[in-house]
Amino acid sequence: MQLALNAQQTRFREEIHGFLATQLPADIAEKVRLSRGVGKDDVACWTRILNRQGWAAPNWPEEHGGTGWSLIQRHVFDVECRAAHAPVLSGFGFNMVGPAIIKYGSEALQKRFLPQILNADLWWCQGYSEPEAGSDLASLRTTAVRSGDDYIVNGQKIWTSGAETADWIFCLVRTDAKVQKQKGISFLLIDLESKGITIEPLYAFNGKRLWNQVFLDDVRVPVANRLGEEDRGWTVAKSLLGDERLMVSRVAENKRMFGIIREVLLAEADSGVDLENRAMRKKLAELEIRLSALEMTSLRLLSAADEGGQIGAEPSMLKLKGSELVQAMDELLFEAVGHWVLPLDATTAADGNRAGVGPDYAEFVASGHYHHRGYTIAGGSSEVQHNIIAKEVLGL
Ligand SMILES: Cc1cc2nc3c(=O)[nH]c(=O)nc-3n(C[C@H](O)[C@H](O)[C@H](O)COP(=O)(O)OP(=O)(O)OC[C@H]3O[C@@H](n4cnc5c(N)ncnc54)[C@H](O)[C@@H]3O)c2cc1C
Repeated sequence: MQLALNAQQTRFREEIHGFLATQLPADIAEKVRLSRGVGKDDVACWTRILNRQGWAAPNWPEEHGGTGWSLIQRHVFDVECRAAHAPVLSGFGFNMVGPAIIKYGSEALQKRFLPQILNADLWWCQGYSEPEAGSDLASLRTTAVRSGDDYIVNGQKIWTSGAETADWIFCLVRTDAKVQKQKGISFLLIDLESKGITIEPLYAFNGKRLWNQVFLDDVRVPVANRLGEEDRGWTVAKSLLGDERLMVSRVAENKRMFGIIREVLLAEADSGVDLENRAMRKKLAELEIRLSALEMTSLRLLSAADEGGQIGAEPSMLKLKGSELVQAMDELLFEAVGHWVLPLDATTAADGNRAGVGPDYAEFVASGHYHHRGYTIAGGSSEVQHNIIAKEVLGL
């Protein structure tokens, strides 16, 4: 087990650092630093820069445009990118449907979609959740019935992030209602321009369009757009994340936030919440200890996996602790600069870009605080993670 970077990994980190210093556009990094609205164009621009370098999809196999990096190298890359305030690439394309197409897609699907994902020419969203199927996802009721070379799809998806800007959606649909519920599900790739699709917005309490409802009414989907065998979509969904399930710690994101908190507290030196304030220092130290523990646990699992070890349900610990830590960071930031945020919450402006009344570092605080509440729900709620850890890790 290895918990510190060796000489080769340190050189790798320096290479990434140098690349970011020269190639990451300053205007985009500034928007990310302040959590201003980072648009699709910004993310596409950065994706294309990384793609030219061959670094857009570190998690993909090399023959499909990946890097061949170890998990530790990918971790280092993530930490450096976050620290430089690089925008995060589309997780739906790069971490979810891309790897699934690589593993389960026909050659035709691979040739068609993978280059488009790598170059940010095609954007995806995820159609899993339904009104009665969230944590218990296998209860989903959207149906797909064969009609010649097509499926006819009917149903409703909910909490679909980014559907308003996506081109395609990957969906779990029911193809057999008579068998055990996990066994009658298939995995379809659906063009959002298809006739019969309606997308309606869902707004979060801060006024932002965070999700959508996607209604599918007699939508024709070619059978050729299925990943994996019919009725075996649950297997595709379970394997969807592959190694990605190890990359759920949010260490890079937490490190970035911790750095920002330090800067904010130093800048607030006269306000009584600064680093000279003992209570504040104690809270900051507690966060740093939690962050170190999270990083050590993450590196322990990543290096074990790099050495060929089998990892079970332990990543649930990373998901749980990483998402909770982001929220704790938000709380301390809010405590430190909430007085700047409250008079005008710049983030509730429709475009998310209106300037606030305080220093620029305070502008994003409410936005982050609200947005990150979803971290302990999306991707498996904390309660569900507790259940998994109790059963699979602790054997209770
Ligand atoms: C920010 C955000 C983005 C999202 N984006 C997408 C997306 O793009 N695509 C998509 O398909 N979905 C998306 N989701 C939906 C997400 O996957 C679901 O919200 C999640 O699976 C929980 O389902 P639910 O909301 O139906 O809650 P429920 O499953 O109904 O859970 C309600 C409450 O009960 C608890 N609970 C449920 N089961 C158990 C249990 N067995 N033991 C103990 N407690 C339990 C939960 O923890 C929760 O507190 C997103 C959610 C959020 C918050």
